[in-house]
Amino acid sequence: MATKKFILSEKEIPQAWYNIVADMPHKPMSPLNPATKKPLTAEDLYPIFAEELCKQELNATDAWIEIPDEVRDMYKIWRPTPLVRALGLEKALDTPAHIYFKNESVSPVGSHKLNSAIAQAYYCKKQGVTNITTETGAGQWGAALSLAAKAFGLELAVYMVKVSYHQKPYRRSIMQTFGAQVIASPSMSTKAGRKILTEHPNYQGSLGTAISEAIELAMSTPNCKYTLGSVLNHVSLHQTVIGLEAEKQMEMAGEYPDVVIACFGGGSNFSGIAFPFLRHKLRDGKEIRLVAAEPASCPKLTKGVFQYDFGDEAGYTPLLPMYTLGHNFAPANIHAGGLRYHGAGTIVSQLKKDGYLEAVDIDQLDTFKAATLFAQSEGIIPAPESSHAIAAAIQEALKAKEEGKKRCILFNLSGHGLIDMTAYDQYLAGDLVNYSLPDSEIEKNISELDKII
Ligand SMILES: *Cc1c(COP(=O)(O)O)cnc(C)c1O
Repeated sequence: MATKKFILSEKEIPQAWYNIVADMPHKPMSPLNPATKKPLTAEDLYPIFAEELCKQELNATDAWIEIPDEVRDMYKIWRPTPLVRALGLEKALDTPAHIYFKNESVSPVGSHKLNSAIAQAYYCKKQGVTNITTETGAGQWGAALSLAAKAFGLELAVYMVKVSYHQKPYRRSIMQTFGAQVIASPSMSTKAGRKILTEHPNYQGSLGTAISEAIELAMSTPNCKYTLGSVLNHVSLHQTVIGLEAEKQMEMAGEYPDVVIACFGGGSNFSGIAFPFLRHKLRDGKEIRLVAAEPASCPKLTKGVFQYDFGDEAGYTPLLPMYTLGHNFAPANIHAGGLRYHGAGTIVSQLKKDGYLEAVDIDQLDTFKAATLFAQSEGIIPAPESSHAIAAAIQEALKAKEEGKKRCILFNLSGHGLIDMTAYDQYLAGDLVNYSLPDSEIEKNISELDKII
């Protein structure tokens, strides 16, 4: 009988994160200070983030960054995560391809985000920080950070987009259970919030506003830092534990993937599984394909442009060199809330520009069809975000079948969907639609950006 799961022992939790920048032939271009247009230094970031994280953000030389023991101890709660052979899905598709997935949904908050939340809370604590802030949309990042903050004895304030605060009450309860203070954004607790509420008393909030509030609170509170759950280089760095474990587990399975797939929001779970494998290509010229699966309604990698843009809607962050649809882009309200981000992290963007990665766009209905087949054949209800990776993996497996070829496919299951059942309800009721973005709208949006490069 074929082995279903490949399990590592706690001793095999990686000792170091992999910093791919050290191995990149073309380093990512520097983020710029928006006022001076000068390259940003780690010191410029110190007022906002913990110092160690600022250094990691701009580290272009060390390929390996040691994981502190305190962080590895916390990882033991759920790591190493299983690598699973999707035998049920293979059978349902009647494909000669072998499909594996790395199951990050087993984390106590149900997604990969805890890998970075724990590291970020640890470095804040180590520096003597007492309070941290963040924003959350659908609530996955806020949930992960709440657990991490409690573990290291930090007070956490989460600005949650008001519409999600009311529509996703369970992620809010998770955060509150871990002791976080959750504030519906816009709120009266910041200048940014008060300004918007005075002008638009019924405004239901946006990620951009929530970011502004969280940063303002961090900057105006002593011993308080801000944290972010995706997009930034240090977040991708922490997520490489996914791929480093998967690398060993694929060896246990006696196989090597032809293609590695992950869904793509800001890029952290994709980087996490893909970068350790891409290292074999960069260092040893190994043949491997890496595929980012993004929503057709938010196609920054396939249809965006590579240029400097703001990381947030309001234009407060440094300017980042990235594939973007424009920070003023308002994505359709799809259920994969974690993938509704206008840009891609700077490392992934440079690698895409240099031809090291591919991207595919997936329609919303195809993701739910794939999710349902996966649930019925593998027994796990996936997060709407992760379902983009599943849909892309299914496409690869069906292509292998058509060509009558063996193919080894590895994808990342970034999270489960048990708190997203409203989305499944709407799919089952036939109420979901696709939102493809017309090229004309993308062009219009991008033409409004300042041309900096
Ligand atoms: C946040 C989230 C994503 C998207 O974020 P990335 O930084 O692109 O990984 C994907 N899947 C799940 C389950 C998430 O919570």
